[in-house]
Amino acid sequence: MGNRTEQTDVLVIGGGTAGFGAAIAAGRQGLRVTLLEATSKIGGVMAFCPGMPWGGAYPMDRIIGGLIEELTERLASMDPPAAEKRACTLENFGPEIVYDHDIATSTMFEMLEEAGVRIRLGTIAIQPHLEGYSISAVECCDRIGPFTIKPRIVIDCSGDGDISAKAGVPHVLGDATGNMMAVTVSFFMIGVDRARAFADPDPYFQKYAAQGIADGRLHADLAKLYLMSGFHDGAVFCNSVHVRGVDGTDPVAVASATQEGRRRCHQLAQFLRSDVPGFEDAHMSMLSPSVGVRETRKLQGMYRLTGEDLLRATKFADGIVACDNPVDDVMRAEGDMTHDAAIENGQYYTIPFRSLVPETISNLMFAGRILSADPVAFASVRGMPQCMAMGQATGTAAVLSVRFDVPVQDVSTGLLVEELSRQGINRLAVPSLSEG
Ligand SMILES: Cc1cc2nc3c(=O)[nH]c(=O)nc-3n(C[C@H](O)[C@H](O)[C@H](O)COP(=O)(O)OP(=O)(O)OC[C@H]3O[C@@H](n4cnc5c(N)ncnc54)[C@H](O)[C@@H]3O)c2cc1C
Repeated sequence: MGNRTEQTDVLVIGGGTAGFGAAIAAGRQGLRVTLLEATSKIGGVMAFCPGMPWGGAYPMDRIIGGLIEELTERLASMDPPAAEKRACTLENFGPEIVYDHDIATSTMFEMLEEAGVRIRLGTIAIQPHLEGYSISAVECCDRIGPFTIKPRIVIDCSGDGDISAKAGVPHVLGDATGNMMAVTVSFFMIGVDRARAFADPDPYFQKYAAQGIADGRLHADLAKLYLMSGFHDGAVFCNSVHVRGVDGTDPVAVASATQEGRRRCHQLAQFLRSDVPGFEDAHMSMLSPSVGVRETRKLQGMYRLTGEDLLRATKFADGIVACDNPVDDVMRAEGDMTHDAAIENGQYYTIPFRSLVPETISNLMFAGRILSADPVAFASVRGMPQCMAMGQATGTAAVLSVRFDVPVQDVSTGLLVEELSRQGINRLAVPSLSEG
């Protein structure tokens, strides 16, 4: 096997929507980028819950811009179109993007290839090594065995932040008492007569669900059924089966929650066929290969975004993406699902770059659902379009850090925001550009 060692400018850990954004942004500007993904597919939660809409892409009905806009346009301009904008059926959410999952995934792989990113699937980052305040190497493992990557910059887009935590970045789990949002197994029903299925004005199918629970055919947490039209005719996306109290950083807990979730999905699919009009001839498809994990570690950054920042519609000078998503909290140990507005109608806030930067380690950033945020802010910022933009911001900041040979904490946020605006991210605080 030998001692395998690789060098790279930017090591992106995790190929979810954040890692996709980070890798492309750094690769397009000529840096050598290695993207590590533990599974066999790009997407992260997008791949674990295939077909889930990209939510919150349009704060105040204007797309956030940048890579999510480019990806959406690429899909929407295909013949036939593979994506479209539509109104979200959940309260307090703005428009969302629905898409063909397989075409979207292939297109994301293509965009990574075009940016020259070295994609390593089935590869896991295991242990960082520090020299002073800098990560000098990361031990990894693929099917051949262990190997080492020596990066100039590390961007942790792993959702769970194992490497950042092992490198000593302070963090909390969930709401800081270890209480995390539920994990979810999703699936599609294919062959649904949607006109009949959605004829009932109750978006959550509660009267049917109550009967199923009373009869012992549905789990008690299925009182509200989250069912929404999929991209293709006759397809209905079922984002309903939530398993509470699972620590997403524990692989054994994740495996058993996945199996429990699959059982509940099968029960729900049978129930829909037998009890809900429009589903009689439908069948289950695209069951999650693993649970979708919403929330684990929250890392401590130079700035911690808070619920008060959202309420005040704060537009930070180093804001890197706009957001107006509601506080989308999902079944903690005792809670329910909520979509309470985070912000006054017709307002938005921005996510500051400093929430993606640790206080001390000079060549580490993080993006996506591990950003530095309190539980309220976290519940709003975590949509896939925002995660992609956070990735895009860190990939771009990596370029500036290398170009000016400065620690990531000293990257000029003025230059960063200008560069992101040039890349098409909308609504940032660029003095020379008029706000739209
Ligand atoms: C059930 C559910 C429903 C949701 N609904 C919506 C919705 O409708 N719309 C919306 O926009 N957002 C939704 N979200 C939120 C959104 O999907 C996530 O917040 C977002 O996808 C997180 O992206 P990420 O890139 O930060 O992390 P993830 O998507 O979690 O990606 C992290 C990736 O890193 C990899 N990884 C982890 N550790 C390592 C390691 N050590 N080495 C190598 N690879 C590693 C993982 O395999 C994974 O692919 C939902 C989330 C869930 C769970």
